[in-house]
Amino acid sequence: MSTKYIFITGGVVSSLGKGIAAASIGRLLMSRGLKVEIMKMDPYINVDPGTMSPFQHGEVYVTDDGAETDLDLGHYERFTGITTSKLSNVTTGMIYNTVITKEREGAFLGATVQVIPHITDEIKGRIQALAVAREPDVLISEVGGTVGDIEGLPFLEAIRQFWLDVGRKNAMFIHLTLVPFIESIGELKTKPTQHSVRALREIGIQPDVLVCRTPKSLPLSLRKKIALFCNVDLNAVIEAPDTDTIYSVPMKFLDEGLDEIIVDLLRLDCDRPKLSDWKAMLEKVRNPACEVDIGIVGKYTSLKDSYKSIIEAFVHAGVANDCRVNCHWIEAENLRTDNIFDRLGKMAGILVPGGFGTRGIEGMITAVKFARENGIPFFGICLGLQCAVVEFARNVMGHEEANSTEFDKDTPYPVISLLEEQKKVRIMGATMRLGAYPCKLTAKSRAMEAYGGKLISERHRHRYEFNNEFLDSFKKAGMVAGGICPDNDLVEIVELTDSPWFVGVQFHPELKSQPLSPHPLFTGFVASALAVKNERGSGAVSDDLDVVESSSVEKD
Ligand code: GLN
Repeated sequence: MSTKYIFITGGVVSSLGKGIAAASIGRLLMSRGLKVEIMKMDPYINVDPGTMSPFQHGEVYVTDDGAETDLDLGHYERFTGITTSKLSNVTTGMIYNTVITKEREGAFLGATVQVIPHITDEIKGRIQALAVAREPDVLISEVGGTVGDIEGLPFLEAIRQFWLDVGRKNAMFIHLTLVPFIESIGELKTKPTQHSVRALREIGIQPDVLVCRTPKSLPLSLRKKIALFCNVDLNAVIEAPDTDTIYSVPMKFLDEGLDEIIVDLLRLDCDRPKLSDWKAMLEKVRNPACEVDIGIVGKYTSLKDSYKSIIEAFVHAGVANDCRVNCHWIEAENLRTDNIFDRLGKMAGILVPGGFGTRGIEGMITAVKFARENGIPFFGICLGLQCAVVEFARNVMGHEEANSTEFDKDTPYPVISLLEEQKKVRIMGATMRLGAYPCKLTAKSRAMEAYGGKLISERHRHRYEFNNEFLDSFKKAGMVAGGICPDNDLVEIVELTDSPWFVGVQFHPELKSQPLSPHPLFTGFVASALAVKNERGSGAVSDDLDVVESSSVEKD
């Protein structure tokens, strides 16, 4: 079967959950035995989101092959189990970069280089490239932004052309829109949807399906009105209400018959949907046997999207442990020894996530000390590992001035430092240690116990590393390497020998956690937190711990 294409656009407002819709459609089609790929086209001019602040863009999702991409790719992987790659995220920056480089090389000699056809051809080429590389039965392409955005126009023009190129039975358009409820009159309103579909039709795209995000159920009369005014079939008006968990969206789409519509329109040859594993997982998400409270001490806590994959990894680890994980966000910048007991005292586990720059570091180090001294399970991810190493050097090994050279270039104890190859780096984009690297686990380590194997592969995104000059002295003091990269002897995991569960990892395990295969380290951490909670007898946390200090000021 040659590849069929689904294009997903969004209208009215941003943040309607196009990524989750694309991922859910992917899950439904996979469950019918089809091979699916999903890609995202982002209209911004950055070549990739790697240089953007987490406050601007949220999490940067890293692929196995080292691309820094949009966080929607995380949804695609979590919902479908596909492995995304460099080909799965395209930006305006990438497109123009390629076209201008080609122009300088003389590839268009004699021609005036224009948006149509040169930019649109390059966009179409990127869609085709993924189809050729992976040969899926269905390639779902999500166009970022909202219909009507100036920068989105070349992408919309490209997918319109693409649809003509491949033939109408081989491609379709799904438009995600909003049907708001106006409180003062107590009515759902269809006009914004009509306007956004009109904007699409003006540029030549007639959506085949409308997925309507709505806070209330859509009555038949309203579905009929939307169908009539927007020129779609009545059964192609799909209701997408707000849900308790994103993992229920595929089931909702199934109830609405969305998969049937796609199969009919694209004439797909496939089985009936099999979703029993998904349903069982959903049941566990919804009805956990108990709860556990985890404190997350980060520096981007006012924008939860910065920690998207961590939040989801905890949902998955909750499924594995039959519990609900309550994440309590603690802004590292405001954490001090005089308030730490109030903020973290009742947590059953403490996690310090990744981050860049000096702000909040001392708060994170204080949190590590608190976890270590009080036997609270600790999980450090990337910057979290680095803070754990600095804390141990300062407070256990007695090197008070120990630091990462990211925060103090002249520290006499550079326990975290730059690799030689990183010292030469001048260009900021795509120059970190990125993507999947192997790691050999140490026998009898917590990590090996969790993974149940010797060799793992995890994804990285950082410049600084554990400084191997200090490895022996750390070992003597009780902090050991739980895993080493066999390629270059870099320490990828640190553990404390005399602690219930104290693990720091230089990679980002959250990126590979999925609801149907929770990550072993998150599962192990939550299991250990549950054990601590049960030992303590009460896991209750007072409400005032949950306060998030937000700020509109741009920070590092
Ligand atoms: N800032 C640290 C580094 O560059 C940690 C990065 C991270 O947490 N992703 O190494």
